[in-house]
Amino acid sequence: MSNENFDAIVIGSGMGGICAAARLTGEGMRVLLIEKSPYLGGRCGHRVRDDCLVTTGALMIPMGPSSAIRQAFDILDVDMDMVDLTGRMRYRLAHGDYDLPPGGGGLYGMVEFAMQDEAAAKALFQRITDALFKWTPLDTISIREWFDQYTDNREVKNLFQGYCAALMGVNLHEIPASDFFAFLKYSSKGSRFGMSTHGNGALMDSLADAINRRGSEVRPRTGCKRIIVDQGKVIGVEVHGADGSDQVITAPLVLSNTGPDSTVMLAGGEHLFEKSYVKRLHRNAADAPIMHISFVMDEPLIPGFDGCMVFGNTRNLIYLEIPSQISPEISPTGKYLHTAYGAPADAANPDMKGEFDNTLAELEENFPGVTDRVTFLVKAKHRGQSPGMRRWIGYGMPVNTPIEGLYNVGDGCAPRGTIGTESAAASAREAVAMITGKR
Ligand SMILES: Cc1cc2nc3c(=O)[nH]c(=O)nc-3n(C[C@H](O)[C@H](O)[C@H](O)COP(=O)(O)OP(=O)(O)OC[C@H]3O[C@@H](n4cnc5c(N)ncnc54)[C@H](O)[C@@H]3O)c2cc1C
Repeated sequence: MSNENFDAIVIGSGMGGICAAARLTGEGMRVLLIEKSPYLGGRCGHRVRDDCLVTTGALMIPMGPSSAIRQAFDILDVDMDMVDLTGRMRYRLAHGDYDLPPGGGGLYGMVEFAMQDEAAAKALFQRITDALFKWTPLDTISIREWFDQYTDNREVKNLFQGYCAALMGVNLHEIPASDFFAFLKYSSKGSRFGMSTHGNGALMDSLADAINRRGSEVRPRTGCKRIIVDQGKVIGVEVHGADGSDQVITAPLVLSNTGPDSTVMLAGGEHLFEKSYVKRLHRNAADAPIMHISFVMDEPLIPGFDGCMVFGNTRNLIYLEIPSQISPEISPTGKYLHTAYGAPADAANPDMKGEFDNTLAELEENFPGVTDRVTFLVKAKHRGQSPGMRRWIGYGMPVNTPIEGLYNVGDGCAPRGTIGTESAAASAREAVAMITGKR
């Protein structure tokens, strides 16, 4: 067993892990990032299927100046190679499609389009504005219950159901009202989002290259077997390397991107952690499952549409994008990659097979004849080790742990108001701020 030493070790190269490594490197630390897979990015990577660059998870990635992702790239002077999709959203409701206006004002427009009644829409929008800026409702009711207080309009609830499932990964009845408004607030702050031009893997590789150039090291094909804890303090990790050998690597700081439950197991088990932390680990520990269907066709399903389509007229189908119409680099000329997502109607009790089949059926209902004309590249049901989100919005773990020097980063530790890739990057921002004392 050889012995190497670093200022910090990051386990896992998902968005949270790679942003943490970038930030710590930017602070002048010598960091080792280990990744068990040959590929970087975790659920924000890509694989090549039939010459198409197919995402392993995320498609819509925040990229505005206040985004924790963009800030991590900026710290190491790395360009985010993205196509900006801000505002290119289409909502499909039972009575038609609504395209967000490019110049803003979209939230009110969506509400009015859904309700088809200007006075009722104005009254509900006023309630939303009050909840954002006057009295923010608490987490004692769901956002569904909050809407139920003010409207019986089914279409507006379907609209927000689609919005919640597509953007937050769980359903209207599962999101605490407080967290819904925290998300709206966070995502309205100069927020921009886009899709990576050359696939998510290329985006993550570009940040990894900068981390390597600055004297830290990104080491793929290296799995963490154990986080070593001595007398309540982390002192390093034991890894299984690409050459098949095991090695101990020491560092006073370890940031795990493997998910809070896995971190506890790697560190030796729950008995090493203070009781309140373990209780929190088990409270509302459900993940947010998601279904991923990618397929290729000889022509686009919606010619000329280069945005994101959110469904408010379905039970399981939540989202469709045609990446080839956004970036031509994604597929060979004349081939059109499409990616659709579905979510269980009850994330706590998902019927993954039945609801996956229904996602396909709803795709067919919305685009008759489609399923006979396509070549499927991915049909995946994500839960467990690789879920849509490791924890529901509002139920994240803290980034620090009772073990000195041991932190978690990733979407299991989403800071309030954040979800998905942004939550992973924001958890890295929070962990590094705690480590450096710069808040
Ligand atoms: C189908 C799908 C669609 C999604 N769509 C979007 C979207 O459009 N927008 C959005 O923002 N979010 C989306 N998400 C969510 C987003 O992908 C995740 O929230 C985010 O990528 C999670 O990042 P993370 O930092 O938690 O790490 P993860 O992506 O979970 O990465 C963890 C990494 O750790 C590595 N690892 C695990 N164990 C070990 C070990 N023992 N040793 C070494 N390495 C290890 C893994 O191999 C992995 O690379 C989607 C997710 C899915 C599944």
